[in-house]
Amino acid sequence: MTVRSKAQRIVVVGAGLAGLRAAERLREQGFDGELVIVGEEKQRPYQRPALSKQFLTGALRAGDLALRSYVELDARWRLGTPVHRLEPARHVLHLPGGEELRYDGLVIATGVQARHLDGAPRHDPRVHVLRGLADAVALRDALLGSSGPIAVLGGGFTSCEVAATCRSLGREVHLVSRSPLLLERALGGAMGARLGELHRAHGVRLALGVEVRRWIPQGWSMGMLLSDGQLLLAECVVLAVGGVPAVDWLRGSGLVLEDGILCGPTCHAVGASDIVVAGDVARWPNLRFDAVPRRVEHWLNAVEMGRAAAENLLAGQQSATPFTPLPRFWSEQHGVRLQAAGMPSLGEDTVRLAGRPERGAGIAGYLRDGRLVGLVGQESPRGMLHWTSALAKPAPQPQPQSQPQSQPLPRQRFTPMRQPAASRASLASWQLGRAARSQVRANN
Ligand SMILES: Cc1cc2nc3c(=O)[nH]c(=O)nc-3n(C[C@H](O)[C@H](O)[C@H](O)COP(=O)(O)OP(=O)(O)OC[C@H]3O[C@@H](n4cnc5c(N)ncnc54)[C@H](O)[C@@H]3O)c2cc1C
Repeated sequence: MTVRSKAQRIVVVGAGLAGLRAAERLREQGFDGELVIVGEEKQRPYQRPALSKQFLTGALRAGDLALRSYVELDARWRLGTPVHRLEPARHVLHLPGGEELRYDGLVIATGVQARHLDGAPRHDPRVHVLRGLADAVALRDALLGSSGPIAVLGGGFTSCEVAATCRSLGREVHLVSRSPLLLERALGGAMGARLGELHRAHGVRLALGVEVRRWIPQGWSMGMLLSDGQLLLAECVVLAVGGVPAVDWLRGSGLVLEDGILCGPTCHAVGASDIVVAGDVARWPNLRFDAVPRRVEHWLNAVEMGRAAAENLLAGQQSATPFTPLPRFWSEQHGVRLQAAGMPSLGEDTVRLAGRPERGAGIAGYLRDGRLVGLVGQESPRGMLHWTSALAKPAPQPQPQSQPQSQPLPRQRFTPMRQPAASRASLASWQLGRAARSQVRANN
């Protein structure tokens, strides 16, 4: 289906970064019909990355975080409006109060929600999560209103950033993670060890390879009995243990919900030609690397996927092109800038490309089957530019597959390509046949 005419309506669900960039791209591409953006939060899209950094220190305020729109959107904003349900057969979204909103084309960009830890007293005022502005305001207020130790649970980017930020405020910080190394899954063991040293050097107390066995609320503090027998007392606890795709509202819709919304290479939701998905909630095969659908929870991916999804919605599924980005992201901890490109998590081996990454500045390359698949740089922005463009050049093409796989596939044999996008032949092989569609329905 091609959505173009004035009489048509495209609805974007999720007023975050990916939703905003998709809406802009729709207008840039000449869509002059009705555009409706529905968002659960009361705010227009804002910069989430600052929430674990400058917003907590007070260097940026809520008003500084608003995201600028690059084009005149001429959109109807429905903020503070959680979509309850999707009925694809009728092209209808169900909104609060029994309202139905029809669409001709739909962009889903509902992101993720903060994951809660089993057994944690999530309603205790000392226990916080960090995903949205409201969470960040509550955490910032808790930091301002306390002076005792802070416990940050989780070994990923958000927890490391929050720990670093709290240390910069002069607070005693304990970083507790089940994994023995920080960010190991994303960046590998060597970089994980180096990050651990960085945090220790800045006074963060690390409790790695342990988990909370018992929560013991006390007068002013929250007690946590760790699996190594240590009793940790904290005045403020931050649960930063990852995100869960915001898909509850899609249950029963027929879309394939497996760690996000399963999409084909063109961002179209599997089984739906008039629904595209973008940002943290989308799980799609990036044919640049292989045929395994994955989610990517990074800022630049939300920007690029929002734009690509909008283009492909307007183009129609038959003419759509695969979205094959080179993922890039950054993080800042204790004043050290980390940058990554590609998929370091796919690497089986690492190689030093510049400087001494394990000692503080340099770039590590991540190899799979002898091929560079990712980069991680520390304090090396110029070198990263060089190596990122080198990594972007050859885009490997997987062997054609008959349909999207929801389980990891056996290792692919890659043929180097000069073009950044995978060919239409491989896209065609992804498009679902009738049998696969009925299998999708049967699964829901
Ligand atoms: C604290 C923090 C720090 C980060 N730092 C970095 C960083 O340094 N570098 C980096 O690359 N990335 C970082 N990220 C990740 C980056 O911000 C995200 O990848 C990006 O915001 C994803 O955009 P999105 O539009 O997919 O999702 P979101 O920005 O989460 O937007 C989704 C929107 O959809 C809304 N929604 C959900 N369900 C519904 C519904 N049923 N109806 C209506 N609306 C709904 C949500 O309320 C939300 O407003 C950080 C994220 C966080 C939380």
